[in-house]
Amino acid sequence: MTNYDYDLFIIGGGSGGVRAGRIAAALGAKVGMAEERYMGGTCVNVGCIPKKLYSYAAHYAKDFADARGYGWQFPVEPQFDWPTLVSNQSKEISRLSTIYQSLMNGVGAEVFHERAALLDAHTVQLQSRKVTAKEILIATGGWPFVPQFPGSQHAITSNEVFSLETLPKSILIVGGGYIAVEFAGIFAALGVKTCVSYRGTHLLRGFDLDVAAAFTIELEKSSKLHLQSNVEEITKQGGRLRVRFDRGDDIEVDTVLFATGRHPNTKELGLEKLGVKLAKNGAVIVDKHFTSNIPNIHAVGDVIDRVALTPVALAEGQILSQRLFGKGNKEMNYHDIPTAVFCQPEIATVGLTETEARERFDEITVYKSQFTPLRHTLSGRVEKTFIKLLVDAKSDKVLGAHMMGEYAAEIIQGVAIAIKAGATKADFDATLGIHPSVAEEFVTMRTPA
Ligand code: FAD
Ligand code: NDP
Repeated sequence: MTNYDYDLFIIGGGSGGVRAGRIAAALGAKVGMAEERYMGGTCVNVGCIPKKLYSYAAHYAKDFADARGYGWQFPVEPQFDWPTLVSNQSKEISRLSTIYQSLMNGVGAEVFHERAALLDAHTVQLQSRKVTAKEILIATGGWPFVPQFPGSQHAITSNEVFSLETLPKSILIVGGGYIAVEFAGIFAALGVKTCVSYRGTHLLRGFDLDVAAAFTIELEKSSKLHLQSNVEEITKQGGRLRVRFDRGDDIEVDTVLFATGRHPNTKELGLEKLGVKLAKNGAVIVDKHFTSNIPNIHAVGDVIDRVALTPVALAEGQILSQRLFGKGNKEMNYHDIPTAVFCQPEIATVGLTETEARERFDEITVYKSQFTPLRHTLSGRVEKTFIKLLVDAKSDKVLGAHMMGEYAAEIIQGVAIAIKAGATKADFDATLGIHPSVAEEFVTMRTPA
């Protein structure tokens, strides 16, 4: 029998890798890990957590304005200080990253803070040494993708945006997905002149069309929107950037942020040489048990390019380690994964969009409601809330719930439990509302749209 240094060696100390490592070690496996950049990975260091903190910061701007309608007066105008936010955020992120390190230490896993690549199916080349392992997990996440064009090097990505030294006066954000609209909300609320440029006709492709349309109306209240436009060239002029679009027009801004997707991080990992099958975009192709075509090489999280969300990477890592070192053969269920876009107003959704529901079911009933929430009757904020339910007419099962409005993520998390449990519209109707609340709308909609 071969003696390996480790039962499991994990490349990547992000959401998926750390969860897989903790579970495996708790089940008695000897675990090693390589993390070249920051423990906790994207989510903790340059993703979900700092993004949510910046989003909280941005919300204060609107809250101060809203408060006036409720009688609050500010003899001195509230002032925002970007360096304070950056520095406080950075301290919190360091604290969290250290906790991830402690979690691994706590279960007796060995972490190497260096880059790793595969030499063969059981050997990992670290910068300082070689190690061997029975099972190997690729959990290397993704990396921002920026299309190449003249001057593209002047653009920043979400990797750099959290640590900008100064708050720009103006910003162009390119893309129409999660990151683009979240940062449009943050910068616009912080007083930055914000422009969003998207190559398509409808933002947030893949989301319910009504929600995306309702959001687009709100976004245009705070940002300038260029649809069907692509950046052709960026030139640096003094400290500013001149951006030329393929439509022929141009603008001058302080900062250009590209949020044009993320690609799986598999470059120079030794995978091609080993014959591990990769998709066109570099994603590791795995089976339903997260195993590649090489039986002891597995992959989870953003690097497999299924659903790039932290709770998904965590669940995949957990399922894999339980199968390898525990009991059972549980498979990941990708149905009804709730998700939120922390834009302003927030969007959250679970289940099918109307387009998907119409494709899959003979007849569906649609319930929608758009209204000004009670809070904004006195605040004077001109912002709508939108709520939508999709129901299978035959079984009465609720197929999808969508919301745009304050606390959408907090509300939809609860609705997701009902949908996951197979709730019918009759179950929603039989549930009493909490009054007065925005969420009660989910149980009081009676008339189909
Ligand atoms: P990662 O967390 O990316 O971890 C991979 C790790 O591998 C990294 O730490 C990297 O340094 C390391 N690594 C890579 N190559 C090597 C190598 N060769 N050797 C050693 N180490 C290596 N998801 C949500 O659910 N909610 C959100 O609100 C949310 N917001 C986001 C905001 C932004 C701006 C971004 C960019 C992403 C956001 N996401 C969010 C997505 C979420 O961050 C990812 O889905 C999640 O981090 C994926 O985890 P992972 O373990 O697959 O990869
Ligand atoms: P998204 O896939 O959400 O959006 C990418 C956007 O860039 C799309 O609008 C896409 O257009 C556009 N695009 C892609 N390629 C090009 C190109 N060559 N030129 C111009 N535009 C282009 O990616 P993000 O980068 O916003 O985020 C990455 C992932 O991280 C998300 O998909 C999500 O899974 C996760 N994430 C989750 C968050 C959350 O849970 N709140 C927050 C942030 C990220 P088109 O639609 O036409 O393809």
